[in-house]
Amino acid sequence: MIKTVFCLPRSVRVKLNTRCQFKCKFCHQEGSMSAKDINKEEFIEALRVLRKDLMFYRIHFTGGEPTLYNEFESLLKKTKKLGFSNALTTNGQLDANNLIKLKKAGLDSINFSLHALDPYAFLNIQNVSLGMKDGVNWAKNCIEKTIENVLSANKILDTKINCVVGYNTVGPREVLGFCIKNNIKLRFLNDLTAGETALNNIKEILYKENAEIVGHEITFISSSHRLDYKINNYNFGVKCIRQFFLKTLCDNCNFKKGGRCLEGFYGIRLEDNPLRVRLCLNRSGKPFVQTLSSFLKSPQLKEIKKETSDVIKYLRRDSLIEEQRKII
Ligand code: SF4
Repeated sequence: MIKTVFCLPRSVRVKLNTRCQFKCKFCHQEGSMSAKDINKEEFIEALRVLRKDLMFYRIHFTGGEPTLYNEFESLLKKTKKLGFSNALTTNGQLDANNLIKLKKAGLDSINFSLHALDPYAFLNIQNVSLGMKDGVNWAKNCIEKTIENVLSANKILDTKINCVVGYNTVGPREVLGFCIKNNIKLRFLNDLTAGETALNNIKEILYKENAEIVGHEITFISSSHRLDYKINNYNFGVKCIRQFFLKTLCDNCNFKKGGRCLEGFYGIRLEDNPLRVRLCLNRSGKPFVQTLSSFLKSPQLKEIKKETSDVIKYLRRDSLIEEQRKII
């Protein structure tokens, strides 16, 4: 029997900036390609206000590449001081010396995006136009740098590799082999733009590697869930999307009706200057993206709060969750 656990959303995702050294074809940039760098003070104020209603305890920094945000270190110090746990998703191109600085500033965990170990496979997922020789050299250097940083980070931080599976299984299987060999945590994610192909490719990897399912984590009030697998003594996860929608956001949505909704309601994202709350990856304009003051009065927040309170009653009644006890 597999172990199933339930949890409330833990994190708020914040997109610090849109800049990045890479141009991965499947990158959705958290829903917006044009957002400005966030304003640090406004963001901190928003955290204070939102924490009361949403009860999250972790900030997940995304981008773009978050380490290119000018004030990242000082931001980590501030969120740490407020009592948050800090998580980062990075492309791994940061200077190795910065890992220690970021840890000292308050970084708790780090996810490296690594989708291929072969330079040609890496180039294949990049929207760049370099000459073949230059491109291969560039790709090789990028991969080496990420690997070097993964191995260093794994000694000092909670470290994980995020590997997006899209139209092929070769790169992800190589990444899996690397993670097993070096005992690095791994999470596969399906390329949302590759639909069924990506899901079938994940299934193929699991089948070919004789992976055995051992656990399932379902996040309430979110489309996110994770399946946990084991190959011999090595455990890894597959992050999946389930059908979850907010009534006040998604009822009557044409994207949903037309099968074009990429992830349903995943959670709260913060972005841009002035700061905006993003509730949908696909769409822009209100209520999908709104100012903080508008969100605080919105039917969407009301619905999320009501769902949260119902879930908490349910969890308390059935004593289902250990981790969530921290915040209940
Ligand atoms: S596209 Fe956005 S608003 Fe429409 S169903 Fe999906 S998450 Fe909801």
